[in-house]
Amino acid sequence: MRGAVFLGDRKVEIRNFPDPTPGPGEVVIEMKASGLCGSDLKFYRSPPGEAQKSLGFSADAEPFIGGHEPCGVVAARGPGVSEKEAPIGQRVMDHHYAGCGVCKHCRVGWSQLCKAGITVYGVTAHGGHAQYLKVPARTLVPLPDELSFVEGAAVSCGTGTAYGALRRMNAVGGSTLAVFGQGPVGISATLLGAKMGMRVIAVEKNAERRALAKQFGADVAIDSADSLKDLTKGEGVDLALDTTGISEARIAAIRCAKTWGTVCFVGEGGDVTINVSPDMLRKQLTLIGSWTFSAMGQAECARFVVDNGIQLEKIFSHRWKLDQASEAYRVFDTQSTGKAVITF
Ligand SMILES: [Zn+2]
Ligand SMILES: [Zn+2]
Repeated sequence: MRGAVFLGDRKVEIRNFPDPTPGPGEVVIEMKASGLCGSDLKFYRSPPGEAQKSLGFSADAEPFIGGHEPCGVVAARGPGVSEKEAPIGQRVMDHHYAGCGVCKHCRVGWSQLCKAGITVYGVTAHGGHAQYLKVPARTLVPLPDELSFVEGAAVSCGTGTAYGALRRMNAVGGSTLAVFGQGPVGISATLLGAKMGMRVIAVEKNAERRALAKQFGADVAIDSADSLKDLTKGEGVDLALDTTGISEARIAAIRCAKTWGTVCFVGEGGDVTINVSPDMLRKQLTLIGSWTFSAMGQAECARFVVDNGIQLEKIFSHRWKLDQASEAYRVFDTQSTGKAVITF
């Protein structure tokens, strides 16, 4: 089979790999859609070998196939996987992490929190940008019939991450929510937040993405946080979510939250300096971090999308074939588009 790998310095290459054979407890998914996620850009942009080193591999280690938003159908089962667990042809997403499988985190579907060491498909093992993907059967999450494969890909990281964060923030209808960044995660938070009955204020530097935010339910889309106080009559917002990972956006998210407000960080990497007394203590701020979602949270997000008639297809501005992976990432790297996906 063919698969796309990140070589560093913005190079993506299609290489040949042997078709995977499922071992004990494993399945092979025939890929139908594999999303591009903002967190791929770190590996895409970094100097050759840097990504491997940051993950604990040697700098000249062979890169793994990218893509951690896999969606497809079960194509093969390994020994010990029952028909009931993974029927051939079943439409599935993948919760793209594997831990030890037996610890308290793994057992409740939060395998990415496993202390025994985790595999992240598309990062520390082959991912979804290929014709086939081999994963443990326990990582499968059924795709509701109502959702398309590309919608399943979105739920598998970007949209699921937004959903997980909003749930962790105890988002409730009637609140005002500021969403910093309107990339694939931010735009999903805007869409889901509006559906949850919140007034959403999108903060985004890029004009095209601001236009998308308005289209997906933002009450207002602004290019800097300066007007947030005015937009909330001096009170500040109930909830602020940073999807950018940029320190200026993080501190702006903290400062725009009202007294008793809640702020959540989902943007990866970087840092932030907080003036603890005025920024947090003196306003009873709740500051939380949120890392993606559990396997059950992924299923719940898919259900929420279906039950609320959310047209998740619309967040996709670009659909590519595997051969076009290099061009797909070149365009995605501009960070001015909607969501992108490779379809098979
Ligand atoms: Zn991701
Ligand atoms: Zn574990």
